Formats: sequence, C-alpha cells, structure tokens
Amino acid sequence: MTSEQTILQSLQARGVSRRAFMKFCTVTASSLALSTHEASVFAQTLAGARRPSVIWLSFQQCTGCSESVLRSFDPTLENLLLNYLSLDYHESLQAAAGTQAEAARRKAMADNIGRYVLVVDGSIPTADKEYWSATAGESNLATLREAVQGAGLVLALGTCATFGGIPAAFPNPSSATGVDDLMTQGLIATRPLVNVSGCPPIPEVITGTIAYYLVNGRAPELDTLKRPKVYYGKTVHDCCSRLPHYNAGRFAQSFDDAGARQGHCLFLLGCKGPETFNACATMKWNQGTSFPMHSGHGCLGCSEPRFWDRNTSFYEVMSSAPRQGDGSACVAPPRVVLPPV
Ligand code: SF4
Ligand code: SF4
Repeated sequence: MTSEQTILQSLQARGVSRRAFMKFCTVTASSLALSTHEASVFAQTLAGARRPSVIWLSFQQCTGCSESVLRSFDPTLENLLLNYLSLDYHESLQAAAGTQAEAARRKAMADNIGRYVLVVDGSIPTADKEYWSATAGESNLATLREAVQGAGLVLALGTCATFGGIPAAFPNPSSATGVDDLMTQGLIATRPLVNVSGCPPIPEVITGTIAYYLVNGRAPELDTLKRPKVYYGKTVHDCCSRLPHYNAGRFAQSFDDAGARQGHCLFLLGCKGPETFNACATMKWNQGTSFPMHSGHGCLGCSEPRFWDRNTSFYEVMSSAPRQGDGSACVAPPRVVLPPV
C-alpha cells in the first residue's frame, strides 16, 4: 500500500466492505452532529481522501512515547498505521536504515509537501550544544528545521517535545528545547502545532488526536498550551476518585495507613493532581484499567511545563493553589471510532 491510495481503497484492500465503511461514516457523522446532507458529503470526502504521510522524528528521548502509543487499544496503532496513515519514516519501527532511510524520508517529504503530518518526540538541543544529538550526521535541530518546513500539521508528542521535559531540567546541559519554543524563537518555521504532553502521554490520547485530525482534517480545539481541550481541559484532581475525601478534609498520612486504604486523599503525600491538566482519571491507563491515584500513588505532574524542576521532591506538599478545569463534567472523552479490520 502507498499513500497514493485513498482511505477507502486502503480499507477495501484489507477486506473492509464499502457498507462497513459507510456505517462507520454514519456513526462518526452522528457523533459530530452533522445533518443528513453534511453526513453524505463527509462520507464522500473521507472515502476519497489520501492517507496522510507521517514523518516521525525522535530526538532526545527515552522511546517511552513510542512505547506508549504501541499500547493503544482503541484505535490500535496497527489499525492507524496500516489503514489510515502512511508511516513513511520512524527510526524505531521502519525496516530501512542508513542512507536508504534518509532518502525515503526526503522523498516522502517532497511528494507530500504542505500536507504531511510531522510527529516529534524528544527535546531538541540548541545553541552551541546543537550537535549533542544527531542522526545521519545532522543535528536534531537541522533535521527538524528541514522537516517542519513542508508539514501540514506538527504533533509534539510527550513532555520532552512539548516543553523540553527531563532533558531540559536544571541545569539543562544540552540547552534542550521543545518544539513550540523553537517556533516562538524563530529557530524553526511556524506551522500548525498540537502538543500532546505527558511522560509519556496516554496512548489513546495520542492515537485519538491523530484520528481526530484524520476524520476532521484539522486539529481539535486547543488550550493555551496548544493541547487538545477534550483531553487536557480538566485537572486530574477534578476527576479523581479520591476527590470526595479531599473535599471532606480526609487525608492519608502515609501510603500504607488505614486512610490510604480507604481511598483518602493523597494531597499531604505530595500529589500534584490539583495543578496538573491531563485525562488520567477519565481515560485511565492500561486499557482503561486504573490511574495512579486510584492505585495509591500521587500525581507527579508529568504533563505540565518544567514538572521535574517544579515538583521534585515529589513527596512534598505542593505550594501552588489548586487550579480549575473548564467546568465540564468528568466523563471519558468520546473515542473516535475507526472501522475494524
Ligand atoms: S489524590 Fe491528588 S488528585 Fe486525587 S483528590 Fe487528592 S490531591 Fe486531588
Ligand atoms: S497521574 Fe500525573 S504524573 Fe501520573 S501520568 Fe497522569 S499526569 Fe502524569
């Protein structure tokens, strides 16, 4: 399969009938509150759309973000990759290596200029530290500068790519910087950017954001840090199962006392949930099984800028005031349903 195939052709090649595809379009159009006419246009547009080319660049990172997305279950990564995306470059997942891989990246970028999705994980070393991290003899900054030029959408994955993350923690020896700051400083071109923060981000938040773009052709509504509001509109505290105990003033004094076992709030044990915007308490982890506070540990604040410098030691009571979410109800964000294969 190539990115020249339409999404419908790609699905049909894998045994998905037109009828099943139309059913998917009907369900999706209904979730978008489209009229009958708009739904018909939506289906035709999506059927004829080419699978977008995706260039995935990894810089100063631990591979945790790729590991996380590989664990997505709804939609699965393979469903996204094989049917809806054309993953043309990913250092860890591709078979090609060396000059072949770099040539394939440049060809995909040239063939899809202005349209490809550029996924970035890891922070980027800058200034005289630019060559602290390099691929194929090129600094990360040079590779990103070239790739961002022709991107239709840039997706910064994980707290390193969004805000610099742990590599940018004091004393930040490599002058590590996130994608948004590079755009603001004029070190790379400015392109439409979506930040999906977290260390790592929740897998279904990653694939859900990509799926939203595929279905709607644009990024979802974003917060002030350019994160999708549907996932980052509330703090984990807003939706925590221990919130009723927080409100009633019932706090665990240690991780193994009777209060902790009864679900009392972990605020006095250092939980940073009241200042951390993420969907952990609604989307949950491990295929929707649980989330840290539910299983007995406080939030470290991993989806916020400078979380390492601001929050260590992780077991001290946070000093800032609790922050308010967007006031919406705590329900798991709707998943974008893709047809099964
Ligand atoms: S455990 Fe943390 S997130 Fe949950 S209610 Fe207490 S302070 Fe808030
Ligand atoms: S609970 Fe807090 S530290 Fe843990 S993953 Fe969610 S945002 Fe990150």
